[in-house]
Amino acid sequence: MSKKKTIRDINLTGKTVLVRVDYNVPFRPGTTQISDDSRIQATLPTIRYLLERKCKVVLVSHQGRPNGQVVEEMRMKPVAERLSALLGINVIQAPGGVGSEVTRAVLALPPGGAAMLENIRFMPGEEKNDPKLAAELASLADVYVNDAFGTAHRAHASTEGVAHKLPAVAGLLMERELEMLGSALDPPKRPFTAIVGGAKVSDKSAVLDRLAQRVDAILIGGGMAATFLKANGLSVGSSPVEDERVASTAKFMDRIRFGNTSLLLPVDVVVADAFAEKAHHKTLSAEKIAHGWRIMDIGPETAALYELQIRKSQTVLWNGPMGVFEWEPFSHGTVRIAKALAGLKGATTVLGGGSTAEAVEKLGLASKMTHVSTGGGASLEFLEGRTLPGVAALLDA
Ligand code: ADP
Ligand code: MG
Repeated sequence: MSKKKTIRDINLTGKTVLVRVDYNVPFRPGTTQISDDSRIQATLPTIRYLLERKCKVVLVSHQGRPNGQVVEEMRMKPVAERLSALLGINVIQAPGGVGSEVTRAVLALPPGGAAMLENIRFMPGEEKNDPKLAAELASLADVYVNDAFGTAHRAHASTEGVAHKLPAVAGLLMERELEMLGSALDPPKRPFTAIVGGAKVSDKSAVLDRLAQRVDAILIGGGMAATFLKANGLSVGSSPVEDERVASTAKFMDRIRFGNTSLLLPVDVVVADAFAEKAHHKTLSAEKIAHGWRIMDIGPETAALYELQIRKSQTVLWNGPMGVFEWEPFSHGTVRIAKALAGLKGATTVLGGGSTAEAVEKLGLASKMTHVSTGGGASLEFLEGRTLPGVAALLDA
């Protein structure tokens, strides 16, 4: 991808600037309390740069997957409040995504003021990249800045469509992500290991397939391990399995077996009798999961095997926690992987994903990594060499 213009390359003084940010922050399970604000922190340099130049800053983000309708617990309110506290100014909460009242709120902003639009995925046009929504967003501002690296792999109205309707440049976070990810793995030092976990296979299956062609080993953890184990013919008890993914996962494993990439699955797991912090739990062989029990973490033998593979590696890419790390009894797998990466000397370690970054942040190990990306899927797609539509749409440098 060619180099892109950034906010440093154009004159922005006094302009109204629409800034796409990725404030899809993790909440404490079952609440709207932000458990990790690194994605907000990461955008502060861009926002401060604009405020210092007396811009009117209009922020737009999504949160969660409301699928085109208003979902109360996915409002941007807690994020706007946190951002206000971090910036030390009152970030106005616009009464919606677009529309006349939103336009009025933006017009009322003083130079050096900031407003945040409501969760843009409340609008059905966002994920459809509806040109009408893109035009309405564009009508709010003079310039568009994309600082949402984490969403740049999606061609949505606020990430791609709008970029064709205004002068469009990269923010400072976007610039840094592209530089860091671009240099870290070009070319990767080998052995090259990818660690993939997190909630669901469906989030990552496309990426897994293409990663498998580049890396020497893939280590699987998280909730998605259940789908892999089931595809391998094991019983996974009451673990949620994406049934429609079992056949494609089995095929994926077959393809891997014929290639040069090794695939490691959990050999033991921590299971619980409910999805709860205080649920009864135990560690057992991945072959012995009984009905009524569900996988919550990788077990210690698995962690030891994964540590061995990590210690052999010169490049490690990690996306997705190994277990429900937010709850202490199910955090050990993720902690061991994070420590193994932090302990590597001279290797390149690149992490992506909101929860993965949160886990490493919590352990105070982020500074031991080569790069902690704010993007999960976006960082993986970029590292596979795919064009990110949200980046491609920006002006070339
Ligand atoms: P990232 O944000 O790093 O890209 P994901 O969004 O894919 O990662 O997944 C993160 C979530 O996956 C975390 O909230 C974690 O609790 C959850 N998770 C991990 N392992 C399991 C599991 N075994 N069962 C249910 N959820 C899990
Ligand atoms: Mg996530």
